[in-house]
Amino acid sequence: MKELVREPCLPGKWIMKNIDAPIIEIFSTFQGEGSFIGQRQIFVRFAGCNLNCSYCDTNNSKSIKSGKMMSVDDVLAEIDKIKTPDCDTLSFTGGEPSLYPEFINQLASKTNLKILLESNGTLPDNIDSMERLDIVSMDIKLPEHLDGQYSERFLDNEIQSLNLLIEKSIPVYCKIVVLPTTETNTIKKVIEKLKDKTVGDFKIIIQPSSPIEKWKNLNSKLFKFSEIIGKDFDVYVIPQMHKILNIR
Ligand code: SF4
Repeated sequence: MKELVREPCLPGKWIMKNIDAPIIEIFSTFQGEGSFIGQRQIFVRFAGCNLNCSYCDTNNSKSIKSGKMMSVDDVLAEIDKIKTPDCDTLSFTGGEPSLYPEFINQLASKTNLKILLESNGTLPDNIDSMERLDIVSMDIKLPEHLDGQYSERFLDNEIQSLNLLIEKSIPVYCKIVVLPTTETNTIKKVIEKLKDKTVGDFKIIIQPSSPIEKWKNLNSKLFKFSEIIGKDFDVYVIPQMHKILNIR
């Protein structure tokens, strides 16, 4: 295992000092979340995350140790094997792929596929150092996602990431995972700050946490969240499709 160099967590850079990265899996399936839901994509799932969210559905990707060290060329070879005519996008997911900006830069420079980054947005310096991003899906974390470890700095850093992407004209949308326990006041506070501190337009996707059955008697909450966000942003409510279809 090569060394992960951690310069202070927030704000700061977490970078690999080489171009290998710990990869959990490379696979092709339909995008199950966000703006490109239903589109066939190739996913490269990185191991390692700087957060520890309570709702995380990829728990095995939080630790760097769960990945296999692979070179850029090894990953490209795997991508070539599974590429299909209906797929033109490479989705970097995790874990937290922005831990590996140099690896992503090298990989992006060697493929014609579009690059989608799925990120928690809390490492703006790393996101800033990525040279080719075609679209970014950025999570906005809520206090209840992080069981007492939440800090206002997470939102500040997410806003910093959003603003630098907007300034570079890189398309970005935000995703807020809501739990049945999420309060309307929490959403109000976050939206207020996003409205005040961001420098351009982006859409916001409310993603009700899975399984969707938990929302059976809570639909009114989703309408309320949508109304709060919709005053200032383009808003959609989109559940995880892959969980409903029971696909990867
Ligand atoms: S940021 Fe994403 S990968 Fe990391 S713990 Fe949270 S949900 Fe899981």
